[in-house]
Amino acid sequence: MTTLTNLTRAPEIGANSYLLKSGSASVLLDAGMHPRQEGWAATPLLDALPRDLEAVILSHAHHDHAGALPLVTRACPGAKVWMTSATAALAEPLLHNSVNVMTRQRNETRQQDYPLYTHRSVDESVLAWETIPLQRPFRVDNSEFQFLLHDAGHILGSALTEIRCGSQRALYTGDLNLARQSLMIPCRPPEGPWDTVILETTRGAQATPHGQTRDSTEEALLQAIRQTFARGGSVLMPVFALGKTQEMLTLLHQARQNGRLPPTTIYIGGLGRALTEVYDRQRSLAPRQHAGFKIIPEVRPETFDPRRLASLRPKAGQIYLVSSGMMTPHTTSHTLARLFFPQQNDAIFFVGFTEPTSPAGLLRQAGQGGAVDWSDPHGPLPVRCEIRHFDMTAHATREDLADWICNQACPKKLFLVHGDPGAQEWFRQTIALRRPQMDVQQPPPGQAIPLFP
Ligand SMILES: [Zn+2]
Ligand SMILES: [Zn+2]
Repeated sequence: MTTLTNLTRAPEIGANSYLLKSGSASVLLDAGMHPRQEGWAATPLLDALPRDLEAVILSHAHHDHAGALPLVTRACPGAKVWMTSATAALAEPLLHNSVNVMTRQRNETRQQDYPLYTHRSVDESVLAWETIPLQRPFRVDNSEFQFLLHDAGHILGSALTEIRCGSQRALYTGDLNLARQSLMIPCRPPEGPWDTVILETTRGAQATPHGQTRDSTEEALLQAIRQTFARGGSVLMPVFALGKTQEMLTLLHQARQNGRLPPTTIYIGGLGRALTEVYDRQRSLAPRQHAGFKIIPEVRPETFDPRRLASLRPKAGQIYLVSSGMMTPHTTSHTLARLFFPQQNDAIFFVGFTEPTSPAGLLRQAGQGGAVDWSDPHGPLPVRCEIRHFDMTAHATREDLADWICNQACPKKLFLVHGDPGAQEWFRQTIALRRPQMDVQQPPPGQAIPLFP
């Protein structure tokens, strides 16, 4: 029997990691790190990993899917790690960056366990990596598992993982997007029906407003930027260095080109630049729009030097596209925000997911005219600048995912993962109504359950 064990500690967007076992063979899907937890609580249930783990398959390079990989390859030295070439090129600098972040946090938060891994463990992990093109089946030694990666349309290199075991087929979505972004093309999932689908449910708690499209959201954002510039303000957009930075650079560049934005200076962070360079180098190797378009030489963003923060006063008509997207304390967006709060002309625009309890989530709740706790010794800071959110998601909407599951994927068994309890619950109820015969499960942490019907 083939089993699946959810190694995530709770039903949430946490440390994604799922263990497959068939006979004596075992394969791990993703090795993520929880974005909001600290120390060992941020890791997947590593104790459940067999030492003779054969392989790891990474769906994409985001931290919540790849951040614990050096811990897995250290615990399971024989495991090969499979991923697309773009994922490998993005994951290596990201994991080294994680070591730097953890080392800094050790000093700032007295987190004695940090860093959980070192630059050397990243380098040793990389030696076990194998890159595999999309649509090329590969086998894992000594097992009946066969795998096949399909483009997921989420970020560069992101993949759906098809799992074949004897005559049965399962699909692990990782993170996917069924609609276009500025750079990524929509995911076209392989044909169903499937025996089993392991589905991300990120947006399950978020209804898409009637009439909201990518085009209308892009236009609303560009209009808000034009209005900010017209009143003499500048714009801060807290973004993740991987994915959102490259999408926004592309959108803003196109808008500058076709006159929907006036000439403007765009600043990005150092990690954002390093990862954008990978997007440029891998541009013809992974599916995306504008395969000939090189972001750095054509958009020509300035790299923001955090050492300038002390003396900085943003000028009218500038855009700061800096991390982190959640505005975690001690990151550039968190520090820079303090300069924007007092200025009525300025604006802070969110363009991605903001966890409600993160500083970004708290700031969205406070809104213009409110006050926000920003770890300031004098108490909450008044927010005078404009605060808005534009839904430029890299994830499929819940409506699109439910339609795909019910009408095309049609799995006999559906596992709901990668979503908060409310998000998973929406999918459970919606699918129970539309496809009452489908076996829908939320895999409990740490328990092996049958993968196939
Ligand atoms: Zn992702
Ligand atoms: Zn994710």
